[in-house]
This record gives sequence, C-alpha cells and structure tokens, in this order.
Amino acid sequence: MFIDTHCHLTDEYDGGVDAIVKRATKAGVGALVCATANPDDIIGALQIAALYDNIFVTTGIHPEYTNANPYEILTDAIINNPHVIGIGEIGLDYHYGKQTRDTQIKLFESQLEIAQKHNMPVAVHTRDAEDDTVAILTDKYRGVMHCFTSSWDMARKMLDRGFYFSASGIITFKNAESIRETFVKIPNDRIVIETDSPYCAPVPYRGNKCEPAMIIETAKVLANIKNLQLSELETILLQNVKALYPKCNGKL
Ligand SMILES: [Zn+2]
Repeated sequence: MFIDTHCHLTDEYDGGVDAIVKRATKAGVGALVCATANPDDIIGALQIAALYDNIFVTTGIHPEYTNANPYEILTDAIINNPHVIGIGEIGLDYHYGKQTRDTQIKLFESQLEIAQKHNMPVAVHTRDAEDDTVAILTDKYRGVMHCFTSSWDMARKMLDRGFYFSASGIITFKNAESIRETFVKIPNDRIVIETDSPYCAPVPYRGNKCEPAMIIETAKVLANIKNLQLSELETILLQNVKALYPKCNGKL
C-alpha cells in the first residue's frame, strides 16, 4: 500500500471524507496522515480519525496562526490520542508573513519543544525561510520536510540531521526539473510522499481539487526518476513511514 503522509481532511471534499477514503483505498492508498494547520481544525481532524483505523493525525499550528498559544492547544490529552503520530505542520513562512518573522520563530520553537517533550517527530513547512529553518532544526529534533521544494543544499543539511523529505504532486509538474533532480540525490530511505490535499494536484489532475487517491501519480514519477518498479518504491516508502512515525508501527 501507499500512504499519503500529509493531507488536510478537514477541508470540504466531494462526497465527504468517506468518499475520499474509498477512492484512496481503491487506488492502493491504504493509510492517510491528516495534518492540521489551523488550530481550530485539530478537534475536527481527531473526530475524523476516530472513525477510521487507517487515518492518523499530526497536530500542529501553521506559521500563519501566530496568535495561537501552542501550550494551550497541543495539550497532553491531544498528543497522547492514539491516532496522533506527530506534530505538524509547523515551521516558517516568509512568503506571506515576513513581517511576523519573530513571532513565527517563537511559535515554531515552542512546538518543537512540545514535540521533544513527547518524543514526537515533526512535519515542517518552510517557505522562503530556509536559513532560519536550518538554524532552528538542530539534530535534537527528528521529522520530515513536508512538500519539499527547497534546494539540494538545504536537503544536504537536513539529511545530516536525519530528516526525511516528502515529495508532493509538485514533482510531477513540467517546470519542476530541479526538484526532481534533488529527489534523485536524496537517498531512497529518506523519502516519503504526500498529496497536501486539497492543494497541489499532480499532473494530470492539475486545476482539480487534490485528494489522496491522486498520490499514485506522484509515486509513478518518483519511481521513474529513481529507476525503481512501482512495487519496489511502495515497499521502500512503507518502511520509511514506519521509521519516520514509529507510533504507526503495528497499525500499518
Ligand atoms: Zn499542508
């Protein structure tokens, strides 16, 4: 089975979550990791996950929500929920929020501290903030660079720190040659895949609302650039998800 390691299931989808889980299962996508960005979505994500054995959650506050207090939101009760396997998505985004740099860093560091306290991996969002992200993510932390589109230089630094890299639908885009080249260089045992649904639908679905079943298109491109059979890639990615998110073990 393939696993969509990062999708936002609290969004509205045609037919609701049940329909997208069915379409995903039919496409060979056997488990989903629902990420949260807006703190208001955390309870909704947990309610969805409670209904399915194969939906896991990473709970976190996206850098856009700088007013949020992570110590009030990411409580022990939430993090100890059996479906919660990591903290995310958290990070820095200076593309839209350069003016909130200092508060973003504080929010990011607080959530890293919470992750560390619970020995949880983190799912990191970084956009136009690579230098600060690399400086903050020391080897005290472990996790994944979600929807990785940054340079090989950044990949190299985060490889040294033991991080994983998640390929999204963007690697299928015609103009994403340099991102594909970066993924060719990243060792196979450090890669996972995601859709980031409802965003970033892969080719040939661009312009449509993305959903987890579409991850197969991303897997096909990754298998191709890595010179692997799709089934070989499937086995590798499953092992990587288990290593990245140990709380999934025994449930996949
Ligand atoms: Zn996301």
